[in-house]
Amino acid sequence: MRARKDGLIALFDVDGTLTAPRKECTPEILKFMQELRKVVTIGVVGGSDLVKISEQLGNSVMNDYDYVFSENGLVAHKDGKLIGKQSLKSFLGDEKLKEFINFTLRYIADLDIPIKRWAYQILCCLDPPKKPLHLCNTLQHF
Ligand SMILES: [Mg+2]
Repeated sequence: MRARKDGLIALFDVDGTLTAPRKECTPEILKFMQELRKVVTIGVVGGSDLVKISEQLGNSVMNDYDYVFSENGLVAHKDGKLIGKQSLKSFLGDEKLKEFINFTLRYIADLDIPIKRWAYQILCCLDPPKKPLHLCNTLQHF
């Protein structure tokens, strides 16, 4: 067996990359990731919370990957241990977050795109109280 290559990390998106959107990972992908981990450090980055990522990649996800970045990287685990947690609200503060959301709302309102529900979902994810996220999850199925 070859030694793992130092200083190299392979990061993978979850939805649409390691899994079909919102689906579970296939055994083939799981096996591939186990083989890859023998030669490089591996990690996953997902927009969902850890619960949803575990549903998709398996309950052993924290042991299967060197790094797990959930909630778009706002929550970081290494070797199964929490190493960082951040929120846009605490990082930017209320005033700057409001300014950013207002700018984004105006910008998106002027976009000429056929389907705007994705843009709405992005906005909900910027300010993450769970209630809007549930609404967004519902909207995306229309
Ligand atoms: Mg994706």
